[in-house]
Amino acid sequence: MLAYTYVKPGEFRLLDKPKPTLQHPRDAIIRVTMSSICTSDLHIRHGAVPRAVPGITVGHEMVGVVEQVGEAVSGFRPGDRVTVNVETFCGTCFFCRHGWVNNCTDPHGGWALGCRIDGGQAEYVRVPYADQGLNRIPQGLTDSQALLVGDVLATGFWAARISQIQEGDTVLILGAGPTGLCTLQCARLYRPGQIILCDIDPGRLEFAQRLDPEVLTVGPEQAEEWVRARAGHGGADVVVEAAGSPDTFRMAWRCARPNAIVTVVALYDAPQTLPLPEMYGKNLTFKTGGVDGCHCGEILDLIAQGRLDTAPLITHTFPLHRIQEAYDLFARRRDGVMKVALIPEA
Ligand SMILES: [Zn+2]
Ligand SMILES: [Zn+2]
Repeated sequence: MLAYTYVKPGEFRLLDKPKPTLQHPRDAIIRVTMSSICTSDLHIRHGAVPRAVPGITVGHEMVGVVEQVGEAVSGFRPGDRVTVNVETFCGTCFFCRHGWVNNCTDPHGGWALGCRIDGGQAEYVRVPYADQGLNRIPQGLTDSQALLVGDVLATGFWAARISQIQEGDTVLILGAGPTGLCTLQCARLYRPGQIILCDIDPGRLEFAQRLDPEVLTVGPEQAEEWVRARAGHGGADVVVEAAGSPDTFRMAWRCARPNAIVTVVALYDAPQTLPLPEMYGKNLTFKTGGVDGCHCGEILDLIAQGRLDTAPLITHTFPLHRIQEAYDLFARRRDGVMKVALIPEA
């Protein structure tokens, strides 16, 4: 089968590999019907993810059809259409029992697919702990509607949830890329008074406004002053930093009102400075980290109810054999690309 492979830092290549097989009674084999490219894939290609193992198939955002299940898998059968979770988690350790599945203590716990074990930019993928790592796609939903559920939409959902948004709040989201836009949709579920989206790219802000005409947009130059004026109380009630530069980290806490929650979802290339003397007395709460992706069933229900819809984020579709072109487009952000879907040929 075709599998896009991390050969060495700086190089991914489409290789012919054997189809995966069950290795454990809790595994399932999924025939991938659609996968996507995530910014984390680019981080692996740059060699910026030390845990990534050369030789693995990349890709951790996908949907497909169950082909085969191990004898200990009870919730899924061949033929089920499923989303695949970016995270592998056992469901029984201390962290899993608290819903902190990103910190699952299993040796493969956390982000393993497409990083430490073979992922889904391929025709088939093996999913460990299938009862935890899969969710059934409700009838009537297309692959495009479900594609982002296991990773970037799970991240937006998690970011909005841990930000403890109250009705009427002013929410500031930094970064109008896929994570920022998923966070925007999920933040709406909590009925904030206003959501302000900030990005350096006016094209991305226009894209966001077409999807959500209510969203207020601002560029980074004016953001601080503008947010303070719009929000009252000296800044936003909640700030979600989904951009990932030193400037946006600084902007995140500077745009927050005293006692605000600042949620940092972005992955930085380098350490950031937390200038505590400057923010003394502001009494901020910082929340940081990687998604706990264990709410995918709830997210799929919200999509089925029409309350979330990330299909419009998929701006481009390529057959799997043209994945190199898809990566070039995505990495260079050409042609207004937001998310790319890849479809293995039948
Ligand atoms: Zn990702
Ligand atoms: Zn666990």
